[in-house]
Amino acid sequence: MPSYKSILIAVDLSDESEKIIEHSLQLYPNLQSQVHLIHTTEHPITGYGELTGKNHCATENQIRQKIYPKLKKLSEKYGIPCKNLHIKFGSPADTIHQFAEQIEADLIVSGSHGKHGLQLILGSTAYSIVHGAQCDVLSVRI
Ligand code: AMP
Repeated sequence: MPSYKSILIAVDLSDESEKIIEHSLQLYPNLQSQVHLIHTTEHPITGYGELTGKNHCATENQIRQKIYPKLKKLSEKYGIPCKNLHIKFGSPADTIHQFAEQIEADLIVSGSHGKHGLQLILGSTAYSIVHGAQCDVLSVRI
């Protein structure tokens, strides 16, 4: 089995996220310090904020404040360091690929499907993550 140095787990914060993390840690035990969690969300559309930039930032912060406790709960449960929790704005697969390169991840883990269910297999985030990745991808069967 390959030994990975930096593992990026993509979580959509659905109930399946725990299963994906558990599965990863069972395969690669004691690697919590090398595991990163990423949740992506689309940029907020904020009317006037689009012009001024100000409302836009405020809304991004509000979104971060809402998402962070959910990531923190996962990190506490599985012993993943807080510094390895990441909230990024943009389309999921592209953002995950860019961030994986930034942290030099050698493995990306995602669920075989998530919030969007089994429909749209070819247009799914799961599919896009596999097909644009520059490193190994583990797709955990949900
Ligand atoms: P989907 O193809 O959208 O049903 O999701 C499949 C998998 O992609 C999920 O189990 C997650 O691992 C990942 N994923 C989907 N959406 C996101 C998101 N917004 N942020 C991070 N990972 C995601």
